[in-house]
Amino acid sequence: MTRVYNFSAGPAALPEPVLRQAAEEMLDWHGAGMSVMEMSHRGPEFMSIHAQAQADLRELLGVPSNYRTLFMQGGAIAENAIVPMNLMRGRAGADYIDTGAWSQRSIAEARKFGRINVAASGADGGYTSIPPRAHWRLDPQAAYVHICSNETIGGVQYHWTPEVGEVPLVADVSSDILSRPLDVSRFGLLYGGAQKNIGPAGLTIVIVREDLLDGAHPLTPDAFNYRLQAEADSMLNTPPTYAIYVAGLVFQWLKAQGGLTAMAERNRSKAALLYDCLDATAFYRAPVARECRSWMNVPFKLHDERLDAAFLQGAEAAGLKQLKGHRMVGGMRASIYNAMPIEGVRALVAYMKDFERRHG
Ligand SMILES: *Cc1c(COP(=O)(O)O)cnc(C)c1O
Repeated sequence: MTRVYNFSAGPAALPEPVLRQAAEEMLDWHGAGMSVMEMSHRGPEFMSIHAQAQADLRELLGVPSNYRTLFMQGGAIAENAIVPMNLMRGRAGADYIDTGAWSQRSIAEARKFGRINVAASGADGGYTSIPPRAHWRLDPQAAYVHICSNETIGGVQYHWTPEVGEVPLVADVSSDILSRPLDVSRFGLLYGGAQKNIGPAGLTIVIVREDLLDGAHPLTPDAFNYRLQAEADSMLNTPPTYAIYVAGLVFQWLKAQGGLTAMAERNRSKAALLYDCLDATAFYRAPVARECRSWMNVPFKLHDERLDAAFLQGAEAAGLKQLKGHRMVGGMRASIYNAMPIEGVRALVAYMKDFERRHG
């Protein structure tokens, strides 16, 4: 068996110890005589898995007691609709900050539910930076302010938390949740799909302040109603049980690594290694402004795009997979989430230097 270095943006690599444990427990979880996949979600075995995963997630992020953690389904794209359905609370509109492809998806979906004010946009700079807070034109009557904490496609990431006064701050954290400590109390709601930095696709994590639970529009489907899901402990419908179990193993793994402070240090070093390599030469180019470069998704270009195919072919042969950039931006993208070891980034940097020697 050979495991490659998988730079996929999502679904993405998982920590090998987690996969091994899941494999060992596949046929018989802790003497239950069955797989987690085969268990009733209401039985004591799965209830314990679910409760432990919730407790570990809360511990990792230091979630305050007036917030609920929900395990939902539908991914961030479903949340793009579920958020306004629950959070508009009779108000006319909401503020959105446009920093790239994923914020644009959020904005387009939210427009079905109310008046959406794009309070700031990175469009003028080609989405290579985040508009400074001083330039945001926020509406004090807005139901909420929405940001995407890490633009998975463009590689633009907030390294600060915006101050937005009394209006709840909502963030799509799909691609950087659990990559570093986060002050949850600064947000009204956080949401993200699990398949980037947590676990298998199919699980969506929502962390919501309790005072925001009660405003759902009457047409909101029950399965997407935060209040009803909170009351049912995320079991209003059958939850994605196996995805929750694997996410729970990832939470345990993160705790064993030293928690989010340790992960932040590791992720910062991994990203620095790669950006230093990109900045050291004109052969490669990192388009994103330094102060908002993502630690998770590193898009880059070769100075001569006619070399792209050879670069990717050589990378594949070296066991460095899924480096092709998103079709919207082209070039390359290395996604280096929590599960990517620093050895993987070192291998990529070594390959890049060698490729430059041969083609530069
Ligand atoms: C991947 C991603 C999405 C889309 O998530 P789905 O799980 O496919 O719904 C939305 N936002 C961000 C920031 C993402 O990285």
